[in-house]
Amino acid sequence: MSNIHPFRVARSEEEWQRILSPEAYRVLRQRGTEPPFTNAYYHFAREGVYVCGACGAALFSSNSKYESGSGWPSFTAPLSPQALHEDIDSRFGMMRREINCANCGGHIGHVFTDGPEPLGLRYCTNSAALMFKPLSTITLGMG
Ligand code: FE
Repeated sequence: MSNIHPFRVARSEEEWQRILSPEAYRVLRQRGTEPPFTNAYYHFAREGVYVCGACGAALFSSNSKYESGSGWPSFTAPLSPQALHEDIDSRFGMMRREINCANCGGHIGHVFTDGPEPLGLRYCTNSAALMFKPLSTITLGMG
């Protein structure tokens, strides 16, 4: 990922490794990809918000989640345009648009242009890079 973009949350790799599960560390910090279909949030349709598994920044709403058939949690848009930072991922002989958490730089997945109309975008994410927060825990109550 880019070395010049300043991320608000900046931890050493040793810290991230201590904080994150091995699979989350592999995806978020080593730009890994989890196996399709068997991950936690692919067949998952609860209402709420998906936050970054590393820093907790809100990245996606369940409102934009859809069934892409890819095997990974797919969204038509991020929660806000500022939530994600994009880089070019030229690994593996491909040119892909990599999406990272704009708050901590954690690798989330990639965005492709074969998504549904009208936006035509498919934000392809790794469950291991996300944490689901049910609507009931993020709605402001009356105490
Ligand atoms: Fe983050």
